[in-house]
Amino acid sequence: MKVLVINCGSSSLKYQVLQMEDESLLCKGLVERIGINGSVLKHEKIGQEKFVLEVPMDDHKDAIGHVLDAIVDADHGVAKSMAEIEAVGHRVVHAGEKYACSVKITEDVMKALEECTDLAPLHNPPNILGIRACQELMPNTPMVAVFDTAFHQTMPAESYIYAIPYEYYEKYKVRRYGFHGTSHKYVAERAADMLGKPLEELKIITCHLGNGASVSAIKNGKCIDTSMGFTPLEGLVMGTRSGDIDPAIVTYIRQKENLPQGEMNNILNKKSGILGISGISSDFRDVEAAAAEGNYRAQLAEKVFAHKVRFYIGAYFAELNGADAIVFTAGVGENDMNMRDIICEDMDALGIKMDLVKNKVRGKETVISADDSKVKVLLIPTNEELMIARDTVALAND
Ligand code: ADP
Repeated sequence: MKVLVINCGSSSLKYQVLQMEDESLLCKGLVERIGINGSVLKHEKIGQEKFVLEVPMDDHKDAIGHVLDAIVDADHGVAKSMAEIEAVGHRVVHAGEKYACSVKITEDVMKALEECTDLAPLHNPPNILGIRACQELMPNTPMVAVFDTAFHQTMPAESYIYAIPYEYYEKYKVRRYGFHGTSHKYVAERAADMLGKPLEELKIITCHLGNGASVSAIKNGKCIDTSMGFTPLEGLVMGTRSGDIDPAIVTYIRQKENLPQGEMNNILNKKSGILGISGISSDFRDVEAAAAEGNYRAQLAEKVFAHKVRFYIGAYFAELNGADAIVFTAGVGENDMNMRDIICEDMDALGIKMDLVKNKVRGKETVISADDSKVKVLLIPTNEELMIARDTVALAND
C-alpha cells in the first residue's frame, strides 16, 4: 500500500510517498512560495537526481496538482497512476480538546478543525486548505488527519490548567495543549523498542530540540506533561522563540518601547530565543561557530538554551518519579553532540552518565550513555511522516 503524507504550511508544502509493506520512502518533496512569485517544486525520487519545477502556483490546489503529477510521472514518479495511492495522511497542528488520536477525515472532522482555527490561526487554515485541495483532486481516496496536539491530550488537568481565572479555560479553552506530539510519540515508541521493554512499563523524557523545541514526560506510554503550552511559544528557548518568561515583561517592554498592537507577539516568536540572545542567528550551527571563536553572547545563548532543557529534565524527573530513558531528537538533538554533552553534564545524582565517545555521533539510533548509567540516554532521529503514514494505514479503511 502506498501512502501520501502531506504537511501544508501557509506558502509551503512538504510531502512524502511511503510504501507501507516495508515502510520504505519512495519519494519526498517540497513546494515553496505557493501564491507568491517564484513558486517552485523540488521532488526527489529516492536514488534519483532531484527534479525541480518552476511554474506559477496560485494556491494549494495548484501546488498539490503539480505534486500529484510528479508522483505519477514516467521518469521521476513512484506510481503508475493515482489509483496506486491508496490513502493520504495530513499533518494538522491543532485539534483543541476534540481529538486525542488521529482520525479519518469526514465533514464532521473538517468542521471541528475549522472550529479550532482560533487556537492556531497561522497553522490550521493552511492545513485545512491542503485537505480540501486533496479532496477535490482525489475525491475517492480516504484521508486521515494526524494532530500535533493529540498525543498530549492524556495530560492530567494539573499539567494543563493555567493558574488564571478558570473562566478563560471554560470560555476560550485557554490551557496547555502541547505540540510536536507525533514526534514525541514516535521516539517514545522507538525508545521502548531499543530498550526491549513495553512502552507501557517505561518512564521516558523526550527532548525534541529543533528550531522549535519541546520536552515531554511520558509515563507508561502516555504523555503526562509537556513544555509547550497554549501555543508553541512556551517552554524551552528556541531558535527565535523566547520560551518561558515572566508575563509581566510583555507589558513592561510594550510600554517602554511604545510598541504597536501585536508587535510583542512578533518579538517573542520571531526575534527572541537563540537569535535574540546571540544577535547572530537562530541556527545553532552559526551560534556554535561564533561561540567557539569566543563570542560572549553566542556562548551565553547556548548556556541559556541548555539551562532550560536541564530545568525541564529535572522537573519531569520529579513528576515521573525517575526515568528509564532520556531521548534526544530533531535537528539539534540529533546532530549537536556538544549541546547534548552540556545538557547531560553533572547529572549523576539523577543516574545520568554520558559516554562522551558514544555521544560523538549524529543522526542515528543509538545509546549515548555509559554502560553503567542508570538512565539510558538515547539518540533517536524523529520520523513524523512515518508515524503519520502508520496512523493513515490503520484508519484509512475503517
Ligand atoms: P524544525 O523542524 O523545527 O524547523 P529541525 O528539527 O529541522 O527544526 O532543526 C533545525 C535546527 O537544527 C537548525 O536550526 C539548526 O540549528 C539545528 N542543526 C541542524 N544540524 C545541526 C548541527 N550539525 N549542529 C548543530 N545544530 C544543528
